[in-house]
Amino acid sequence: MAASAGAPGNQTGAPAPVPAPVAAVRPRILIVEDEPALLRALRINLRARSYEVFTAAAARPALAEAAQHPPDAVILDLGLPDLDGVQVIRELRTWSHAPVIVLSGRTGSGDKIDALDAGADDYVTKPFSMEELLARLRAVLRREETAPPGSQVIIGSCAVDLTARTVSRDGQPVRLTPTEWRLLEILVHHPGQLVGGRRLLTEVWGPGYEQMGHYLRFHMARLRRKLEDDPARPQHLLTEPGMGYRFQP
Ligand code: CA
Repeated sequence: MAASAGAPGNQTGAPAPVPAPVAAVRPRILIVEDEPALLRALRINLRARSYEVFTAAAARPALAEAAQHPPDAVILDLGLPDLDGVQVIRELRTWSHAPVIVLSGRTGSGDKIDALDAGADDYVTKPFSMEELLARLRAVLRREETAPPGSQVIIGSCAVDLTARTVSRDGQPVRLTPTEWRLLEILVHHPGQLVGGRRLLTEVWGPGYEQMGHYLRFHMARLRRKLEDDPARPQHLLTEPGMGYRFQP
């Protein structure tokens, strides 16, 4: 399988130069809101402050978006057309530690408590001031910066930057596929912990894939070849036979 398509006009046979990745330090924010005017206002305000913004107008697209582009923080409306926002938090929390700020349009406090119990980090009540929301967002992102595992993970001689989504070995870029990224992210967010194979299959491929252990073996083998110094004797991406996998920092 080709790692990358050849650049047009590259006639020399030499590998095309890979452009250095632009420093991707802009926090990536997922906004989940079904009111178009509010979604638009949020998008405009966050982009104006140099956040990288992804949006979804319902719960299921939001979860798909989060899996595709793991966010640094999520701004989440609780009243969504398909699933309750609390459900979104519960699902997200099975694999992501990204802070979640809830937008609550309801007057009672019960839904906020449910949201916090499910793993939300903060909330604002509608109608809210944009400045207040932005201040809350800065606060949760600051908290996240100091929280383990951080964005940098060292695996043997590889440096993995979870924020920029780059891997380098001895200064040379190592390319991971989206599937490899998802697997790696889930594992490194549970350092030293066993993560069950069925759980990995469900979180990476989706419900119905619980029996597809060969997918996992295939992609974990590729990850080890890319990241471990000696893939035959892995030190960090460990198999727990019959159980699952463990990231050993
Ligand atoms: Ca709503």
